[in-house]
Amino acid sequence: MSDFNAPRLFVDDDLPGPISFDQRQTNYLKNVMRLKAGDTIIVFNGRDGEYRALIGGLGKKAGEAVGEEKLRPQTKRPSLWYAFAPLKQARLDYMVEKAAEMGAGRLVPVLTQHGQVRRINRDRLTANIVEACEQCGILSVPEIVDPMPLATFLGSLDGRALVVADEAIAGEEGDPIATIRAAGQPLAVLVGPEGGFSEEERALFLPRSHRVSLGPRVLRADTAAVALLALVEAAFPSA
Ligand code: SAH
Repeated sequence: MSDFNAPRLFVDDDLPGPISFDQRQTNYLKNVMRLKAGDTIIVFNGRDGEYRALIGGLGKKAGEAVGEEKLRPQTKRPSLWYAFAPLKQARLDYMVEKAAEMGAGRLVPVLTQHGQVRRINRDRLTANIVEACEQCGILSVPEIVDPMPLATFLGSLDGRALVVADEAIAGEEGDPIATIRAAGQPLAVLVGPEGGFSEEERALFLPRSHRVSLGPRVLRADTAAVALLALVEAAFPSA
């Protein structure tokens, strides 16, 4: 397990380093965490595993460190795809953060008829994802792909099982964990837009997906994300 007391940062450099920090990271280490040369932190880069690193110096705009001890070897990205209709900013930020925390390996924005948002700010979402990974001890940062229409998404599954949280069956009897387990792995899950899926879209995904209800209440899409990913974790506990 990771030491959750030590600050943990995602870095670009090969590890064990030398590691350089940009202005944002330096400010965080120096002014927020009050660290200085000689203190240790945890770093990871999504390629070389996780290291305990010794801070060499923290200047005004940049800082440096070097990896001292390998703490954990690199793991592969989780195989789970989390597909979602993009939401407006604050809820979208929340949703991608939660998807990373809850073990998605790939995030797929899917354009739907009733979706209100057609563009995403990848840099902003990536920053959210990286921060979630830093906080939660995740070693492999999930990737986020360009938005695609629902039909393209369905065509890209290539044998991968698909589970859709469908508000049309909200509250119907059934065991969602059993449904997800029966769908199998590798798995993609899909949550619709605040406006819900259209009947045409339902006709597109029905023949090639398994549907689950998330209970009798119609949830906001960001809540549905967490609920659905918790069911996936229950069906297929992460190693
Ligand atoms: N406006 C729609 C609700 C959309 S909720 C309506 O009034 O019917 C946004 C998305 O969250 C849905 O497309 C679905 O993927 C998911 N969702 C919300 N509540 C759900 C539930 N009880 N069961 C299954 N999926 C749900």
